[in-house]
Amino acid sequence: MDLGIKGRRALVCASSKGLGRGCAEALAEAGVDLVLNARGADALQQTADAIRGAHGVNVTAVAADITSEEGRAEVLDAAGEIDILVTNAGGPPPGLWSDWGHDDFIKALEANMLTPIALMSATLPKMIDRGWGRVVNITSQSVKAPIPQLGLSNAARTGLTGYVAGTARQVAAKGVNINNLLPGSHDTDRIVALETAVSKAQNVSMEEARKIRWSGIPAGRYGTVEEFGAMCAFLCSQHAGFIVGQNILLDGGQTNATI
Ligand code: NAP
Repeated sequence: MDLGIKGRRALVCASSKGLGRGCAEALAEAGVDLVLNARGADALQQTADAIRGAHGVNVTAVAADITSEEGRAEVLDAAGEIDILVTNAGGPPPGLWSDWGHDDFIKALEANMLTPIALMSATLPKMIDRGWGRVVNITSQSVKAPIPQLGLSNAARTGLTGYVAGTARQVAAKGVNINNLLPGSHDTDRIVALETAVSKAQNVSMEEARKIRWSGIPAGRYGTVEEFGAMCAFLCSQHAGFIVGQNILLDGGQTNATI
């Protein structure tokens, strides 16, 4: 399918690895020029070179912390006018409800709620002026069904979801579509840490830990970054103009709900 976005320009945040990179790859395959971002400069440069080489699109790499005001300013400055924004950043640490104080919540809100909101505030006006834009926020399955040990993530991402629900409906008539993608378990570096935790807690091998985690997913496996990226590219495509303020769960059926 021709996604109809060849020659568009996208900023994909936190994209040297994992889900962000999957989104960047799929957009590049559709002919979109990219601005990529991550904190670590080496991995980011390698990803930028690989995507440029594979797809022949323009790729600019900006090494910066997207959750800091200075980092965002640097990234937005390099990005200039963009048609597509994909927001992403690392998630808050796990713990118990009783572990977290005011500062922990502020940090999580800064990273996973206020950062994507700041990026949208900075880029929506030009998209509206041009009458076309797409925003995809990478959030989490935990927005639909809470993951108790990820209370900081549950709280911050749900706040972002509420903001998107209202804002998406305010800008839709201007040709700008904002939606959220909710990953369940995907095969990225982050999963290794989760499997290590299961392996230690239950005193089983890493292979067994993976099987235990898979047993809770009806699809019987993790999602791939390619699958995730393909859905992101579709939401950024010409064909997605009637999809407004939705929360699309990519979790292999793990969230047990009828709707
Ligand atoms: P990942 O494989 O660890 O990749 C994270 C990427 O983000 C890397 O490129 C990393 O590069 C970059 N990054 C992290 N913090 C950043 C920051 N402050 N500023 C700029 N770049 C940053 O992680 P992932 O699995 O793709 O997860 C992406 C997001 O989805 C996270 O918020 C995660 O909590 C959420 N999520 C993931 C899953 C899953 O199964 N993978 C499920 C639910 C939710 P640097 O470290 O060099 O900055």
